[in-house]
This record gives sequence, C-alpha cells and structure tokens, in this order.
Amino acid sequence: MKVGVLALQGDVPEHRLALAELLPPESIGLVRAPPDLEGLDAMLMPGGESTTIAQLLATSGLWEPLGRRLHEGLPVLATCAGLILVSQRLVPGAGGRDPPTLGLLDVLVGRNEYGGQVDSFEAPLEVDGEPGGPFPGVFIRAPKIVSFGPGAEPFVRMGSEVVGVRSATVWGLTFHPELSGDPRLLAGFLSAARERGAHSRSTHARSTTSRATPTSAAQK
Ligand code: GLN
Repeated sequence: MKVGVLALQGDVPEHRLALAELLPPESIGLVRAPPDLEGLDAMLMPGGESTTIAQLLATSGLWEPLGRRLHEGLPVLATCAGLILVSQRLVPGAGGRDPPTLGLLDVLVGRNEYGGQVDSFEAPLEVDGEPGGPFPGVFIRAPKIVSFGPGAEPFVRMGSEVVGVRSATVWGLTFHPELSGDPRLLAGFLSAARERGAHSRSTHARSTTSRATPTSAAQK
C-alpha cells in the first residue's frame, strides 16, 4: 500500500517517522503538489496551523484535487489541524480568521478550545475495541469536538469527552498519535484503509466482469 503525508506545514517529519515504524520507505510519500496524489491508498493530514495549511493547500493547487479524492473515499487520518480542515463546521473564532474546511466529517470543531501552547497536556485515552490499556494522548493547542452528527462515530474518549470520531473513510483526532510512541491507532487506521482498498478492488472486479450498471459504477 502507498500512504501519502500532506507535507505543507506542521509535524510532517513526526508522521513520517511513525509511518516508517509500520511500512517500508517505498510505501511512504510526501504530498506537496497535485501529482503526489497519484497511486495513494491512504493519506495522513498532520497537525500544525490550520489557517496556514489551508492557504498552502490553495496556493499549491491541492485544495480541489485533494478534496475530490477524499470525498471519493480515499481514507484519511486527520490529526489536530488536520481534523479542523476535514470538519464540516467550525465554531466561529475571534476576528473571523478561521480557515475554510473540506467538509468531510460530520463534526462541529472548536479551535484552541483548551487554551494556547502553554496549556498543552497529556492524558490517558480510551480507544474503542483497542486492547492493551489506555492510549497516551498528546494535546497541543488542541481543538475540541464540540458535537458530531450521525455521520460520525465516536471511538476515542478522554473521560466522558469525545476526542476521536470516524466515518467510513475519515478518522479525525484532536490529539497527536504520532508523538505518543504508541503505534496502535496508526496501525488500526492502516489496516482499516487496507481492508477498504481490498473491498473496493473486489467491488470493482465484480462490476467490470459482470455487466456494468450505473449502480455498480457508482459503488466503485
Ligand atoms: N491550534 C491549531 C489550529 O488551529 C492546531 C494545533 C495542532 O495542530 N497541534 O490550527
């Protein structure tokens, strides 16, 4: 499988290192321009500064093709600023300086809801279906998932607070798994993306070997 790391700004090297623990180097690509999207089976959208990343997505020409690939079902793990960018709605921030969003995940997200850099913290998290004890959560100028709709399934919690939600193809986390030294969430995302790839390849094979109908074409 080939996984792309959006590499415009933010903690790109940390994501690359975390991926390198799980995949061979040839399976990891950096995404800086539209041609880098070719042949990808999954994407990671790192944390950083969401307004800056949104600007660079526009100037690099990636905004439209990346949004299209993700809306078509390319699996994406979006962390922190990445979550802000894939969300459907943001709590309006002071001064109207909020970034535009790609509108993929059925969540309302508030930026910097825990405070600034000095209010960064670590906390143990519960991940649904994940054996092996609490996951070490690293929160840096983190956003908050204020609410989510039926299109998003909560699956990571800090006490009673939801800090991770997912849809069929989009995983959104308010914290930084790549800084935790714990590979479980990234490994879980990659195996879900692999399964999804295998499923869409077999659906594709069926729809091209049998007579293609508009419905089967739409399911690809
Ligand atoms: N506060 C940042 C933003 O609004 C996100 C912080 C992070 O990605 N660690 O974009």
